[in-house]
Amino acid sequence: MELIFATNNQRKLREVRQIVGAGFTVRTLKDVAVTEELPEPFDTFERNAWSKAHYVFQKLGKNCFAEDSGLVVPALNGAPGVFSARYAGEPSDDEKNNQELIGQLKDKTDLTAWYQATICLIVEGQAHYFEGKCEGRIALTPRGNGGFGYDPLFMPKGYSQTFGELSAEVKNKLSHRSKAVRQLADFLNAL
Ligand code: IMP
Repeated sequence: MELIFATNNQRKLREVRQIVGAGFTVRTLKDVAVTEELPEPFDTFERNAWSKAHYVFQKLGKNCFAEDSGLVVPALNGAPGVFSARYAGEPSDDEKNNQELIGQLKDKTDLTAWYQATICLIVEGQAHYFEGKCEGRIALTPRGNGGFGYDPLFMPKGYSQTFGELSAEVKNKLSHRSKAVRQLADFLNAL
């Protein structure tokens, strides 16, 4: 089955391809010649995911999905949340975002956090949503080079290593994205 993933984020793409496996051909915006940046103007993951998927569906008339994700930290009232990619300003910079997070959390005692991923799939003009969460806590010193974004700071529940230190296989078993993508794949396989 061929599907358009409304993203040009190569790191998300790699994870999604690893999770859905060989049964799906996942194309990106670049593959279908959509070169403009898709805005994420809303304050929920759901609406941002819908907005990106809807844009592509309107433009190409093809089934597609989009994902909006981020890190939610209760001690920071839910920040960085939907602003995770640009927490330290634009253009998006993982290193600066991580330093900003460490700075904001240095005097806090509650270091719990979760990642959230919301997928909006548009099939025949109908929107379907799939959500995944991954609970954990924040390490105040970055560790490891795996994954991307806040992964050097994020220790999934039950682990003392960060996603930066854990293998891609372990991350793909536990992650918010993998939970949402597996529901997406199950839904598509049942069509
Ligand atoms: P967006 O969905 O393109 O708005 O960006 C999601 C942002 O959330 C990324 O730039 C990261 O900062 C953060 N994020 C989402 N998923 C992950 C993940 O799996 N690991 C680390 N950071 C993530």
